Parts: sequence; structure tokens; C-alpha cells
Amino acid sequence: MNKTNLKDLSLEGLQKLVIDYGQPSYRARQLAEWLFQKDAATFEDMLNLPATLREALEKKHTVDRLRQLKRLVSSEGTTRKYLFELSDGNTVESVLMQHDYGASVCVSTQVGCRMGCALCASTLGGWVRNLTPGEIYEQVLAIRRNQGRGVQRIVIMGTGEPLDNLNHTLVFVRNITADYGLGISTRRITLSTCGLVPKIKELAASGLGITLAVSLHAPDDDLRNRIVPVNRRYPLAELIPACAEYIKQTGRRVTFEYALIRGVNDAPEQAKALAALVRGLNCHVNLIPVNTVQERGAKPPGASTVRWFQELLETRGIPVTVRREMGADINAACGQLRAVDLRNTAATSSPSPGMSSNRVPSPKSSPPEPVRKEPVRKEPARKEPVRKEPVRKEPVRKKSSRKGPSRKGPS
Ligand code: SF4
Repeated sequence: MNKTNLKDLSLEGLQKLVIDYGQPSYRARQLAEWLFQKDAATFEDMLNLPATLREALEKKHTVDRLRQLKRLVSSEGTTRKYLFELSDGNTVESVLMQHDYGASVCVSTQVGCRMGCALCASTLGGWVRNLTPGEIYEQVLAIRRNQGRGVQRIVIMGTGEPLDNLNHTLVFVRNITADYGLGISTRRITLSTCGLVPKIKELAASGLGITLAVSLHAPDDDLRNRIVPVNRRYPLAELIPACAEYIKQTGRRVTFEYALIRGVNDAPEQAKALAALVRGLNCHVNLIPVNTVQERGAKPPGASTVRWFQELLETRGIPVTVRREMGADINAACGQLRAVDLRNTAATSSPSPGMSSNRVPSPKSSPPEPVRKEPVRKEPARKEPVRKEPVRKEPVRKKSSRKGPSRKGPS
């Protein structure tokens, strides 16, 4: 008989379970505390539960823990990447990031991913399966165990599209925010999606009010179709209103993630189009100079390009942050560690049939970082400290005559 992992259950599920065992429902909360807060390794550890209940639970259930296969520490010491083995032998990766304001853990929600984003290593081996709520939660507990310290923030941004596994993700969020769990505020939880419009609406209706981050990466459908293929199903004309609705229902500011790729989406006209697209929304844009992904052929732009892209947005009234590169030396971007692991496995076996051939669109300009003259821009109508602005000219960019490669859309 297959035993079930109790960490997969919500409080309601645990209540039903203990009642089935002839116990009062308050035992469910005690059990939940052992599972989600006190991190009990065995049923024997659950000292305030009656011995009869512990023995009965042991016969049919488990309190599964993930097995740590690898831990890589970045050279600056602030980022740690973990590769965990699941009970069925599949692997997932999770990341710990130490910030000034505390520790963030980035969790995966699926083994692999079927969304086919051109920037992402997670999609390289295809989708294998959804993670259970307990497997998502256990990533946080395993890292906390390893660190011996608390976790203040959660980013649901690892391998997988969390909205493609929404029900399990919601159970995870409810457990980790609960008083019987780690009690992490929903305001300190960010979920990142490539833009599954109906699921964004479902998440808004869940009432959780977690922060939504949308991987935009392009300001127009033509380019976004090629970088984020789910855009073919849910184009910007549907995605942006869904974000506006999320903001309205939750009162939360939405983050638009924009991975800057050299020669592909980093031109001044693209910055202006991006500003026009999100203007008027309670949002901010997070610029991410893309990590180099060997299989994807993507390269980050130089620091000056990132700076003037940011300025072009800011002068149009869009709040912008630039994500500090953390852990590039340990493959910290989404799915890279698992991809390396799969690559190493593939090197000693036959090629994976699920391997996607997606690559980022070819750069419009030649690969070396172009020397750009700063674009001419007007002073912003803001009450900012007066500063001298350089006179800039728009850089001339050659139009590409190449078509983007065909790629597999999400199933
Ligand atoms: S970016 Fe996210 S949604 Fe896109 S392929 Fe990677 S894991 Fe999946």
C-alpha cells in the first residue's frame, strides 16, 4: 500500500483525517504544527499526540523529507542553490538568497515546465509532473534546516509555471502563511507567471493577495510570441487587462519582469513601447540583465544599455528596479542547475526526446555590445532634484531580415 505524505494536506484535510481516526478536530492543528512549523522528522516526535493516533498515522502516512543532492554557494556567499531529490527520484531546485532584509527562498512548483519560454533552462527537459503541496513546502523546510535560520520571504519563481499547478500552489501558500505554519505574511510572497490569463483571474479571486510578478520580456506581441510562447494564447491585449484586474481586486502592485537580452529587446524604442504598455497601472518594472543560458544563446546587455533603458522608463513615470545579479557563478537562474544535471546525465545516456529546441530570437545587431549614443529626451515633469541631463541621440539600429526560429508552444 502506498503511504500518503501528510504535508500534502491543508488544515481542512488534516481535520477530516483525524476525525476519521476518531480524534477531536483540534488534533489537526497540533498535527499541522508538527508538520509545518516544528518540522517533525517522525511521528514519534509528535509528543502531544496520543500514542494510538501516532501509531495509526505511521501505518498509512509519511512525513516525507527531500534529499539534498547538491548545494552550491555563490562566490559572494549570499546565494545558495540546492538540488533536491523527490521520493520518486525526480529532482527539483530551490534557491536561498540572503538580503539585508532577511532570507528569501525561491521554490519550484513543477518538475520541468511545458511553457517553453525561450530564456529558460527549466523547459529544456520538458514537463514531467506537478509538485505536490508538501513537496513545495518541504523545499523551504529543507533550506531552513540546512541554514539553521528562519525564512522571511518566499518567491514562487523556480522551475515550473505555478499557475499551471495552481491548486497545489494555493495549498502551499495557505499552509506557509498560517499560524500553524511559518506564519509568513502574504505580502512577503511573490508568485511569478508567464501570463496564464484565466489563472491570474483565479488567483485574484482566491483572496490571498500575494504579489504577482508577470514575466513580460517584450513590449509587443510579435517579439513576446517568440520569447514567451504562451503569449500566442494570451496576447498582451488580454494579459495587461488581467493584471489591471488583479491590482483592482487585491490592491497589490504588480511587478513586470523584463529580462534584458542583448540586441533582442533592449532598444530605446522598445523601452518607450514598454512604458506605453504599462503606463497608468499600479506596477513597477524589474529589469533583469539575463543570465547566460548555454542552450539558449542569450546574452545580457552591457551596464550602459541597462542604465539608459532604465532611464527611458523612469522619465516616462514608470518605477523601475534593476535586479542585482546574484549567483551567476552557480547557475542561479531558473532551471539552470537541474539543466546541468540533466545535461550531465544525457552525456552518459541517449538524448532526451523531450528536449526543446527553443532559443531566444536572434539579436538584431551583431553580438558585441554596441556603442550607443544616449537618446535625446526631455526633462521629466517630476519634482525630482534638479540634475543635468546629457544630450542624447537615438541609436540607429539595423532591422533584421531574419525570421525567428519556429518553436513549440505550450500545450
Ligand atoms: S520561465 Fe517559468 S514558465 Fe517559462 S519555461 Fe521557465 S519555468 Fe516555465
